[in-house]
Amino acid sequence: MQKKDLFKMIPQVEEILKYSSIEELDYSRSLKTEAIRDVLDEIRGKIIKSNDDEIRKLESQIKFDNIIVMVEERLYSEFSPSLLKVINGTGTILHTNLGRSLLDDSIKEEIWNIISSYSNLEYDIAEGKRGSRYSHVTKMIKLLFGVEDALIVNNNAAAVFLVLNTFAKDKEAIVSRGELVEVGGAFRIPSVMAMSGANLIEVGATNKTRISDYEDAITEETAVLMKVHTSNYKMIGFTDSVSNRELKELGNKYDIPVMEDLGSGVYYNMEEYGLPHEPTISESIKSGIDLITFSGDKLLGGPQAGIIVGKKEHIDKMKKNQILRALRVDKFTLAALECTIRMYFDEEKAKKNIPTLRMITSTPEELFEKAKILKDKIDERNTVINVYIEDGKSTVGGGSMPGEEFDSKVVVLNGESLTADRIEEGLRLSKAHIIGRIKDDKYMLDLRTLNEKDFDTIADAIENCFPRR
Ligand SMILES: *Cc1c(COP(=O)(O)O)cnc(C)c1O
Repeated sequence: MQKKDLFKMIPQVEEILKYSSIEELDYSRSLKTEAIRDVLDEIRGKIIKSNDDEIRKLESQIKFDNIIVMVEERLYSEFSPSLLKVINGTGTILHTNLGRSLLDDSIKEEIWNIISSYSNLEYDIAEGKRGSRYSHVTKMIKLLFGVEDALIVNNNAAAVFLVLNTFAKDKEAIVSRGELVEVGGAFRIPSVMAMSGANLIEVGATNKTRISDYEDAITEETAVLMKVHTSNYKMIGFTDSVSNRELKELGNKYDIPVMEDLGSGVYYNMEEYGLPHEPTISESIKSGIDLITFSGDKLLGGPQAGIIVGKKEHIDKMKKNQILRALRVDKFTLAALECTIRMYFDEEKAKKNIPTLRMITSTPEELFEKAKILKDKIDERNTVINVYIEDGKSTVGGGSMPGEEFDSKVVVLNGESLTADRIEEGLRLSKAHIIGRIKDDKYMLDLRTLNEKDFDTIADAIENCFPRR
């Protein structure tokens, strides 16, 4: 067989289009034609490049049935969803790469009811006239945190931007050098401040900033005093920073608003669960600070959003800022946030039904029970993988509580002649897309971030990837 014979074997586009299994596929003719052309072009390219050995191999590949399969696979892969469910066995709860906070099944119906119907998003039912989308969650936030008013935007970066743009555009905002953080995704506080049009005035030294440093920097142009919670790193040793209360007193003295970018926005005191102290939203509010911003999908455990709470006069001013339109949230976010915030009125319910809180507050004893269930399921399968339950360490992640690990339970998976990397890759590329962790050359899944409803899927994936023959 020669190259020219191979070229002759390639079917016509029309012939493939008419073939029953291709004809039945639910894609438009033009999409199918494009996929067929791509496959045939690839084959022609291979023929051109082939040597004598390869010509023989190609001869069997170019069979009509094989080409049909190639076309089908191409269409499936191009049109399969890109956004996929994964199973998080890393033990990092707010895993930025894996979608940060999760929403609970229990609020599914309520959210769906709002987003699949018309709603009173911007309609006042009592008055029968136009309402405000910013009125909905606000009522509940005011009740929960005891604040004068609140505003919801797309995320916390947008919240910081909006505050600075509204109050400090073409003016000065004073911030400590020790708080100029980068929070991942290359989002830097100084850059956002600059984009907002605020002139950033850095004061103090990296490790120490005193109240006098802020006071010395105040000029006619000073419009905001800013505090940023250094949520993703910890400074230890010879350090000092100014408390919210001190900064608020200074703000009062010069009549300058004080804002705090709190980052995580935690409601309950996490010390009860063996975690380090993370300033709570209520603590910041009590300090009297004028405006506080935090994320909806970090420790609060809701959808992606930026929440601004504080004095009504300041929130009103931000509502008039035209840029708000570009930062506004969808009804989906508002519905999910309202469901999440409502659960906070009952602490037990919140810990049970907000996945982020549920994972944080799970005890090692509970995780051990979960580990046994998973181990049993895997042991029942026909697989070469052995399972051991061991002690492990989880992290909160999402730039919260840096360096803090807390006790967890993991299942370690191994199998003769299988390296940890091989197990990791097999399970990651499996249909279940299980993302685990390798530590000391051992592959493990942390029970803290696993959901029991996925245990059968995990056991099936292990059996499929590593069957006993
Ligand atoms: C996470 C974080 C942000 C960014 O919040 P997003 O909701 O991701 O936009 C800003 N500031 C601090 C201190 C943070 O920790």
